[in-house]
Amino acid sequence: MIIRKVEYIISAVKPEQYPPGVSMELAVAGRSNVGKSSLINKFLNRKNMARVGQTPGKTQAINFFHINDEWYLVDLPGYGYAKVSLEVKARWGRMMQTYFQKRGNLLGVIQLVDIRHKPTEDDKTMVKMLRDRGIPMLLVATKADKLSRSRQIVQLKIIAETLGVEDWKQIIPFSAVDGTGNRELHEEVDQLLQN
Ligand code: GDP
Repeated sequence: MIIRKVEYIISAVKPEQYPPGVSMELAVAGRSNVGKSSLINKFLNRKNMARVGQTPGKTQAINFFHINDEWYLVDLPGYGYAKVSLEVKARWGRMMQTYFQKRGNLLGVIQLVDIRHKPTEDDKTMVKMLRDRGIPMLLVATKADKLSRSRQIVQLKIIAETLGVEDWKQIIPFSAVDGTGNRELHEEVDQLLQN
């Protein structure tokens, strides 16, 4: 897909603020600092569409972008930042439940994990939530440039096993720095949008 137009719509904290759920939609999820903003910018070929390096855990809103006047890309708030209060964590949980309940137009979630680390309990909870709801998931391992190809494979196998993914080759290694995986991600997104 050629990204012709990217329009920031809204940073929503409640469902009344969501744009009408009439277009196809894909959401991006991951823990704070996983590289979500960097991936979105790289994917969209825009420098500052999503803000990189924000205070982790600060963004507690759901950001909607309209792409090519055709579909929504949704930046979900990052999770798993140790320093946030229980109240903030609970609010995050409610926000996610509401989002997944309300968006019948959601075609899938691009779930991010850091290629260097074993997925956290929060990552596992997120993946389980998607599976329980029958939401198709595209798993992406970020910051691939930080590891050699052989280390990447070791880590992809650990990630696959931890998250119950049958084949580690289904996970896309991605780098916002050198562009690794961007083409594959585009192809997978095209597939999801065509179904
Ligand atoms: P977010 O909190 O998930 O939106 O993460 P950001 O996109 O803000 O990135 C968090 C930090 O990781 C920033 O310092 C980024 O520069 C860095 N980062 C993000 N993606 C990559 C990547 O692909 N490679 C490297 N080396 N660093 C990255």
